[in-house]
Amino acid sequence: MNSQQWIDKADKYIMKTYGRYPIVPVRGEGCVLWDADGKRYLDFLAGVAVNNLGHCHPKVVAALQRQAAQLIHCSNYYHIPSQIELAEILCSNSFADQAFFCNSGAEANEAAIKLARKYSREKHGDPDRFCIITALASFHGRTMATVSATGQEKVQKFFDPLLHGFRHVPFNDADALRAAVNTDTCAVMLEPIQGEGGVVVPSADYFREVREICDQHGLLLIFDEVQVGMGRTGRLFAYEHFGITPDIMTLAKALAGGAPIGTMLARDEIAASFGPGTHGSTFGGNPLVTAAAIAAVHAILEEGLLNRAEEMGEYLLGELETLQHRFPVIIEVRGIGLMIGMELSIPAGDIVKKGHERGVLLNVAQDRVLRFVPPLTVSKAEVDEMISILTGILEEVAA
Ligand code: PLP
Repeated sequence: MNSQQWIDKADKYIMKTYGRYPIVPVRGEGCVLWDADGKRYLDFLAGVAVNNLGHCHPKVVAALQRQAAQLIHCSNYYHIPSQIELAEILCSNSFADQAFFCNSGAEANEAAIKLARKYSREKHGDPDRFCIITALASFHGRTMATVSATGQEKVQKFFDPLLHGFRHVPFNDADALRAAVNTDTCAVMLEPIQGEGGVVVPSADYFREVREICDQHGLLLIFDEVQVGMGRTGRLFAYEHFGITPDIMTLAKALAGGAPIGTMLARDEIAASFGPGTHGSTFGGNPLVTAAAIAAVHAILEEGLLNRAEEMGEYLLGELETLQHRFPVIIEVRGIGLMIGMELSIPAGDIVKKGHERGVLLNVAQDRVLRFVPPLTVSKAEVDEMISILTGILEEVAA
């Protein structure tokens, strides 16, 4: 079937929860996707920061094929060797001691919300300690608890009553956070860099102050690294840039090289609050996805992709800054590693559509920010090709 035939069929059978573009990708390799008509696209969205290893990384493909032939799924009533091995790898490369596995970023954040409430009530002997402070313009997922945690009205409208026990403060404003802490507060949950909020990078000392506030009031600090974790910023985890450690961290997206997975990591003392029967997931950390994740994490660490994300991030940022000097519609270029945003004075939707016509996949966050999250394996030639296409588009829409 060609792309149009698939789109017609989707119109009949698929709920319209996404404003989908008329593109039907059917094959991928590295930074390149091909659609059902054979058209080639350079992928600077990477499944929204999922395909950090590029499409169909051979080590992930081999791990999936091997594991699928051996054991696809078994219950969490039993021990799962690849889940245990993955937990060891993640813990030995982070601040954390233990992992809980689930299937998505929202579920990882749900787990963090539940653990923070249970731990804090037990630790402080206070049933009224349940409130979690999060940031305005944050994004934490689409389940009811994570919609309630998210600081964006457009995600919440239609779904009230929201879950009780979340307070929102401006991001990158430690004074606002300090003022919002109350006797009901148990935790602070933040993205190290706001992704859906428009690639917002906080000031260098924001998180040091946040950590101090949490320590002073006995609050847990939860980092939602669903979008920025797994090497995207040039470090395995984004918290490594800020000279502090969180108490709980959530990961998903890139963790299994494209297979659906989520995880919540915590230190021993906090993890101990999740005893048998407190939380669970049928598929969470099953043999197939955790085998893929082991291969993906090894590939990130062994193929020099952290350095590469840093180097190519600097190169891409530099090229975008050059465009900024030429086109006054570009207000700011910002980011760390390959988590980069370009804020415009005009809506970015038209640029994305023209990009599609010319064979490059870009993305808009918050209407006026172009977000660049290519695979960490992206080459200089691929960056140059994207920049040349983007330059042509800017000459048309913004000269
Ligand atoms: N947290 C952050 C920071 C995200 O960017 C996202 C998704 O974009 C989520 C959570 C939700 O993840 P998922 O869509 O896997 O539930």
